[in-house]
Amino acid sequence: MPDVLVLVDHDGERVHKSTYELLAAARRLGDPAAVLVGTPGTTVRLKDSLARHGATSVYAAESTQVGGFLGSPAVEALESAARQVSPAAVLVSATTDGKEVAGRLAARLDSGLLIDAVDLDASGVVTQIVFGGSYTVRSEVTHGVPVIAVRPGAFEPEEHPVEAMEHELVPVPIAPAASARVIARRAPLAGDRPALTEASVVVSGGRGVAGAEGFKVVEELADVLGGAVGASRAAVDAGYYPHQYQVGQTGKSVSPQLYIALGISGAIQHLAGMQTSKTIVAVNKDPEAPVFGVADYGVVGDLFSVAPQLTQEVAARRG
Ligand code: FAD
Repeated sequence: MPDVLVLVDHDGERVHKSTYELLAAARRLGDPAAVLVGTPGTTVRLKDSLARHGATSVYAAESTQVGGFLGSPAVEALESAARQVSPAAVLVSATTDGKEVAGRLAARLDSGLLIDAVDLDASGVVTQIVFGGSYTVRSEVTHGVPVIAVRPGAFEPEEHPVEAMEHELVPVPIAPAASARVIARRAPLAGDRPALTEASVVVSGGRGVAGAEGFKVVEELADVLGGAVGASRAAVDAGYYPHQYQVGQTGKSVSPQLYIALGISGAIQHLAGMQTSKTIVAVNKDPEAPVFGVADYGVVGDLFSVAPQLTQEVAARRG
């Protein structure tokens, strides 16, 4: 019997790295079972890679309709699976969508909810980031099935092959309310860059980039490192870069191996979205900028001089 339910993030063809991270986290609490919501055929395509990363079974909710609905089918499928197996916990990625699913699921299960988890131990005690990153606390759910939203990047994905995986189809009741919000259009991600919450390197630009043109410098450094591009809210609000790339309290939360902040002051709301990154490099011309307080490496200088040199150096080393 599976112990921990994990919601699978995928694009129909590929399981997202954040799910492998969840499976690694789940194994600390018990046997992970994947809950997959998709169009017919998705489970067959994705179950082997889930088994390779430790999923002992897949609860698959497949329907031709789910692709067009926003959020609800995942809540329905998780609730249905949770009522069947009484898991030790339910894990979802702490993305914008994942947090919404987690909140709604916890309400339905009358359970405690822990958001922005960055660590958890075998007894179910969770380390989470709270108050916009001001504090790290250790928390535990004392009522119901713990619903835990785990920050992408907080755990390392691990291969842990499962030989005989069970494959079960959980029927998803599509309640009329599920179609209240439908996806009208999906905006394709720019170019070949990895998704912000998936990337192991993120290069972000702030107001110091001084315009949409200036983001070329940010993009060039991201590309030579094979990374994603992010932006501060000030840069987004000023129209330098699209909102979907905003990092921070009201944007995306990222925990890459390497985060490079170019022309970003380091306001608490920005730090809330990136301070769990493994290594932080900041380039800022103000030596007093708060971002240097969280940076592992700080360069006091003009980003338009420092970033291109870095890009050139990395390119030269890569040959
Ligand atoms: P600034 O604070 O203006 O900093 C620009 C920096 O660039 C300065 O430190 C300057 O020294 C440096 N600089 C300028 N020119 C150069 C150069 N040529 N070379 C090197 N350095 C240079 N912010 C977020 O980022 N994400 C959020 O999700 C977010 N959510 C928010 C939610 C709420 C409720 C509120 C109130 C605010 C939120 N903010 C968020 C805004 C946040 O408070 C800051 O205003 C914002 O992060 C500042 O962005 P910035 O660092 O790019 O700009």
